[in-house]
Amino acid sequence: MFMRKKLVAGNWKMFGSLQRNALLLDRIVAAGSGISCDVAVFVPFPYLGQVQGLLTGSSLVWGAQTLSEFAEGAYTGEVSAGMLRDFGCGLVLVGHSERRNLFGESDSVVAAKFAAAQAVGLVPVLCVGETLAEREAGATFEVVVRQLSAVVDRVGIAAMNKAVLAYEPVWAIGTGVTASPHQAQEVHAAVRAYLAGLDGVVAEEARILYGGSVKPGNAAELFAQPDIDGGLVGGAALVADDFLAICQAANR
Ligand code: PEP
Repeated sequence: MFMRKKLVAGNWKMFGSLQRNALLLDRIVAAGSGISCDVAVFVPFPYLGQVQGLLTGSSLVWGAQTLSEFAEGAYTGEVSAGMLRDFGCGLVLVGHSERRNLFGESDSVVAAKFAAAQAVGLVPVLCVGETLAEREAGATFEVVVRQLSAVVDRVGIAAMNKAVLAYEPVWAIGTGVTASPHQAQEVHAAVRAYLAGLDGVVAEEARILYGGSVKPGNAAELFAQPDIDGGLVGGAALVADDFLAICQAANR
């Protein structure tokens, strides 16, 4: 059986300062030898240079929280995939619900960003998830499969081999309400079943993270589910002790 290595990724959102970043990353790097899962941080654009300096030579990988769908051009304010590569990024978040809901990123824009990331060798972490209204309407699987297939239709199923997926129910992000391990596993299994319908190997090897109020107290139970391969962590990623405890929970 293929063993998927767990990944714990911190999404700093629009938080941080030069001083706070250094303190946080120093703690995480110092704990590095006790952590056996993969660890990543997604940081605001201006701090990529600082983070590259602090993490080069460590086992952590870093990335940005979004990118432009365009390679270059007159797109004031945008940041391209190639620019992220210049700062040593290995991964990039694509389709986070805050990008979809607050900044109007459609499924097709998300698919274009996914393709732009892969075009330069960045690993996109594709976020999918339903709102509370969608869950209450019984549309969870339909929404998640629609978001996934928008990307697969554009890049092809084989491209999912060079990506990470993250199931993030919108109602659980930053709310303190976590999907129960059963609720999360149910959607993760459905995502894997969707992939398996297209390519069995891709489905077995795909890492599917759970995100939505992951904390030290709930991480181990979530990560013990058969189709949950780690976590995408927001609020708790800003507190060194909490983030490290979540990484420890993924070690088991
Ligand atoms: C996130 O930002 O992707 C996230 C899951 O946030 P939180 O852990 O705070 O819910």
